[in-house]
Amino acid sequence: MIDLSGKVALVTGGSRGIGRAVCLQLAALGADVAVNYRSSAEQAAETVAQVESFSRRALAVEADVADAEAVKAMVATVLEQLGGLDILVNNAGIVDDQFLAFMKPEQWQRVLDTSLTGAFNCTQAALRPMMKKRWGRVVNISSDAGLMGDLRRTNYAAAKAGLIGFTKALAREVVGQGIMVNAVAPGVIETDLIAGMADKQREQMCSFIPAGRFGRAEEVAPLVAFLCSQRASYITGQVFSVDGGLHM
Ligand code: NDP
Repeated sequence: MIDLSGKVALVTGGSRGIGRAVCLQLAALGADVAVNYRSSAEQAAETVAQVESFSRRALAVEADVADAEAVKAMVATVLEQLGGLDILVNNAGIVDDQFLAFMKPEQWQRVLDTSLTGAFNCTQAALRPMMKKRWGRVVNISSDAGLMGDLRRTNYAAAKAGLIGFTKALAREVVGQGIMVNAVAPGVIETDLIAGMADKQREQMCSFIPAGRFGRAEEVAPLVAFLCSQRASYITGQVFSVDGGLHM
């Protein structure tokens, strides 16, 4: 049995998609959950209501993860209102696709700032309370794109591969303090992130996936929750794909 009761989790980008599914899975297993979002206040409020339906405490916290000061304020709010911080899921991420030859520096920077610097900002702010308790879990949502590359996504693949290096280096730093750090690399998951994909491209992508279909956010969340639990007490610095066999 995975039991997260008594734990407080912060999930970045918890308003929608994979982040929302993770919030609900953690709550179902007993955690109180802070739901970070950048602009979707209504959807974050929906996630909060769904977490509360598990009789857990929940809190919507607005912050752009790329903004270090906003992140510090967010973590302070979580500590004050939920009384601690034991679990951090660095999930917030964006895409801004373009062939490298045509990619604007802003497109490169925005994706790196959100997916990689965002994880740095949030983890740095969240580590102190975990170190004090000598217990913590950090799960970084990377991507198969960080392992295999992806067309028109040099920015995204670089950010997601960077997260893997970040995961391994940090895992070495904090394992002695009871903090386990791992990465989950989803394949193609049905969320707003891929909503713009044309039917022909969907068909072509599915033909590369041994399972023959895209995944659902609810199929990513259970592994994340396991890595956040006491059950994962001897697992750190690892990358786990959840992708129907796309990367193996
Ligand atoms: P969605 O687009 O559905 O959701 C993205 C979430 O990230 C939203 O909650 C959004 O908040 C939040 N967010 C974006 N930018 C920021 C920011 N600067 N600060 C705070 N929050 C932010 O994406 P997914 O659920 O699909 O993706 C979640 C993670 O999984 C991402 O890191 C993505 O790269 C990764 N992933 C997704 C895959 C897929 O196929 N879907 C495959 C592999 C990895 P708001 O609602 O306020 O905009």
